[in-house]
Order: sequence, then structure tokens, then C-alpha cells
Amino acid sequence: PLLRETFLENPPKTPPTMIRINANENPYGPPMSARKAVAESVATGSRYSWKELENLVGKIAKKEGVTPDHIMMGPGSSDLLEKVALVLFAKGGNVVSADPTYMSLVKVAEATGASWKAVPCKGDWSHDLKAMEAAIDKDTKLVYICNPNNPMGSITSGKELLDFCSRVADRVPIFVDEAYLELAVGADTQSMVSLLSQKKNVIIARTFSKIMGMAGLRVGYIAALPSTLDNIQKITRGGMGITQTSIAAAVASMDDNEFQDTTRKLNHEVKTYLCKNLDRMGYKYVTSYTNFVIFPINMPGKEMLQKMMAKGIMVRGYEIQGKPWCRVSMGTMDEIKQFVSALEAIS
Ligand code: PLP
Repeated sequence: PLLRETFLENPPKTPPTMIRINANENPYGPPMSARKAVAESVATGSRYSWKELENLVGKIAKKEGVTPDHIMMGPGSSDLLEKVALVLFAKGGNVVSADPTYMSLVKVAEATGASWKAVPCKGDWSHDLKAMEAAIDKDTKLVYICNPNNPMGSITSGKELLDFCSRVADRVPIFVDEAYLELAVGADTQSMVSLLSQKKNVIIARTFSKIMGMAGLRVGYIAALPSTLDNIQKITRGGMGITQTSIAAAVASMDDNEFQDTTRKLNHEVKTYLCKNLDRMGYKYVTSYTNFVIFPINMPGKEMLQKMMAKGIMVRGYEIQGKPWCRVSMGTMDEIKQFVSALEAIS
């Protein structure tokens, strides 16, 4: 793989005072509307939440323009990335994806017995769709695409991806992870969910963890053809892992456009401030269409993590093509100002 994460051997326990800008969370969430819904829903927590879940699925289906049997819920989209991999790779095969990319699904596929066909990203870190198509062979069970991509923050053209999915999904299912799509301000992008009405075999993953600010409340879903979901749900049920309180929070946050707009606006402002400062310091970052920015650094990744940690700041370290990089998530403006000062001090 071109991508390797850098870890500290003995990371300190996370004290509450740490600035946590390492996991691409939304620092403004959960929305107040969701907090209120959580509090109110606790009272009926002694009951299974079938009706509430059905209501949430109906709401999501309406938003996505599909019928409810196209939706499978999970406690976060991680759960669904893993379930899809467990089911599709039960008999081996291979998964085709970009490298670097988000490794959750690929890792479970590998652990299940599949092999990984890694296709290097293009120079601008977008997906090399031509090379990915060429990498598909008779053993390919799934193509995984993360757009915008993590950890690069880069975008692949929505038009090109739509064309790729609509052709290639006739040969092999395509999993499109759209965790950061709502944050891709100003990008040529679109959801691949529209392909479901053309009966294309795509699986779209979306999460409430990012734009909705609910990473700790755990709600996500996939949209796919009912036949694909039947296949997965024969083995592993969707929705059973979500608590009633999280369902209530999800319903409320879906209606809270003001919170989502504010998140997008603040994320953009903070990112603009960070990039201006990275420019000033001479760091060559990748243009980001997400709530994080990645850039190469001029010290070993572990040293950077340790020095940041000593300043109370948690970020992520990666090795890409053998070189150290730092990935920083957009915290609040105040948090990013502290990150900029720390970076200046340790550079
Ligand atoms: N997909 C991508 C690309 C991510 O970056 C993440 C989390 O950071 C996830 C999926 C999983 O998110 P969750 O399980 O919180 O929905």
C-alpha cells in the first residue's frame, strides 16, 4: 500500500482538555434540536424502536428519492462498510479501490480472505477510474470508492464517477462512500444514489457523523438495490444496533437545515484560515473538499505526533509513498489557531 498510518507506541489516554482534531468530527454538534430529541426519547427507551426506525427509514428514503426497501440502517456507516465486506467476501475474491483511501471496508475484506487490488490515485489525488476499471477481473466482488476521499480530502469529478458507475456496475457492484459529500463545497460532485432508479448495482454509504455532528450517537445507512440488501440482510440485520435516542436525534438533525448550513459555513471559514497559514509557512497541502486537510511534513510522523501531543493537540500521522504527512480535522476556529501556533513552534 502507498498509505500507512503512523502510530505512537504508548499514546497517552485522552484527557478531556486535549484538542481533538484527529477524527474528522463535527465540533459544533450534535445540533440543539437533536439534543432535545434525545432527552425526550429516553422515556420510551424500555421498548424496541421498530416504529421509530421505520419512521427514520421512511424519511431517509424520501430524501434519497427511493422506496424504503432501498435503505439499510446501521449504528454509523462503519457497521455497514464492515457488514457488506463480511457478506460479499465470505468466499474470497478481491476488492478494487484507490490507494490511498479509507481502509475500513478493505481491511475487513482482507481479514475475511479477500485480496486487495490497490490502484494509485492520480497526481491530483482523484480516483484513477480508468485504471480501476482495468484492474477489475473475474474475481472482483466489489469496487470501493470514497468520494470525497479520506485521508486525502480530494474529489473525483461527479460526472466522471457517474459515467464509471453506470457502466461498471453492470459487471461488478460498486460501493460509493459519501461520508463527506455534504461538505464538498464548490466541487463538481453529486450523489450516486440516482443510479438506483436505473437499477444499477451501486451501494451508497452515508453517515450522520459528519455534517449532522453525531459521531458519538452512531447512525448511518446504505442505499442499494433491494436485492443487494436482501442478500446482506439474510446474514446480518440492519438497524438493530441503533438506540432509540440516536434514532430520535437523527430525525431531528435531518430537519435542522440551519445547523447543517452553519457547519458547512464554519468548516469553510476555518479551512480557509488554516490553508492561508499553511501557505504562509510553505506547506503544500492537498486541496480539501472535506472537513480535514492533509499535507507533507518535514519530520518523522511519530515526532510530529509526539510534539503535537505535548502541546495538547491530537492530529493524525500518515506515511504516503514513504513520506510523512499530517492530517488535521477542522475543529473550531480557536482550536485551529492553536494548531497553527503549535505547527509554527515545532516546524
Ligand atoms: N467512511 C469514511 C470515508 C470515513 O471517513 C468515516 C469516518 O471517519 C466513516 C466512513 C465511518 O463513519 P461512521 O461509522 O461514524 O459513520
